[in-house]
Amino acid sequence: MHPNQSKLESRVHRAAEAALSRQLYVSAIDVFCGMGLLAPAQVDSWRKGRVDFLERVIQGNLKKISSSMAIFRRWANEKCLKPSETHYMRRSRAGTVALQFSKSGDPGIERNYRTHYVSPALSEKKQQRLEEKLNQPPKPVVFQNLHEAQCSECGAEIEQGSFLSMELEQPLCLQCARLDDLEFLPSGDTALTRRASKYSGRVAVVVRFSRSRGRYERQGILVETAGLEKAERECLEDADERAVARARGAERRRKQDVELAAQMMKQIAMLFPGCPASEVAVIAGHTAQRGSGRVGRTEAGRNLQESALTLAVVAAIRHRHTQYDELLASGVDRVTARQRIADRVEEILARWQK
Ligand SMILES: [Zn+2]
Repeated sequence: MHPNQSKLESRVHRAAEAALSRQLYVSAIDVFCGMGLLAPAQVDSWRKGRVDFLERVIQGNLKKISSSMAIFRRWANEKCLKPSETHYMRRSRAGTVALQFSKSGDPGIERNYRTHYVSPALSEKKQQRLEEKLNQPPKPVVFQNLHEAQCSECGAEIEQGSFLSMELEQPLCLQCARLDDLEFLPSGDTALTRRASKYSGRVAVVVRFSRSRGRYERQGILVETAGLEKAERECLEDADERAVARARGAERRRKQDVELAAQMMKQIAMLFPGCPASEVAVIAGHTAQRGSGRVGRTEAGRNLQESALTLAVVAAIRHRHTQYDELLASGVDRVTARQRIADRVEEILARWQK
């Protein structure tokens, strides 16, 4: 075999193995992403219809891409993985549209891209649920706009704070996006949200850009009125049961948090012997807190990895021992603020490590 070919083969194998062990199935997209030839942001653009076919954004020429595909299929066959065809769809105002992978659009090549390979370790039921999930086009996203905008189709003013939809980077009013008959359900009640989206034929996710956090945050969903009403009736019927279950869950999570914080205290004290005990307790308690999206709640944090705990300690130093929060509050952007305090953080970190 040509040396470049065997190098390509091991890259494909590595990417495929990693995806398979992570999610118990693997797709061509997983392989190209794992090989670093395709960025998730580009997959996202393609899924939204901004890229006409996926191969356009895969790095490498068609020969390399098709060799990788062939290696991937051979690998999957040798592993006796089960092929499962998945439909990649995108929603548009006209209905759902099948997404195109290859430049040629050849049906055989398209099928190869669509085929996922599933581990026999995945149970029949889970596999079925997975397929249902993958076959669903992503829910349309509606933005709560920060500035006034104008609908690119009918020219209507879209007031600040109201909803707009984006199609191919252009704003649309909800009427032109054919979403104006849906009702807004703010986030907060998880049971109601879950049921309302289950009973609603059409659902859109509402997000708003948070300037302070620098990311889009979910505000709620838009659902059909009939679905929402059905969900509300159901939630009323079993409200008591759910309240009991919630209280039990909260108690269980509180106990887990206390245990986790104790373990973290030990680990932090070991990694940072110079850190005062009172600080160790605060950092561990803060980091272990549930639902905060902080490092402590991530997989790495629960496994108490050194790097994850170090990140938590750095974050604590930033907030408690530097001007970081003041800098942000005065309008300095995150990257600049972090640069300005970097030396101070390093200095304290070094002292605590001794
Ligand atoms: Zn319009």
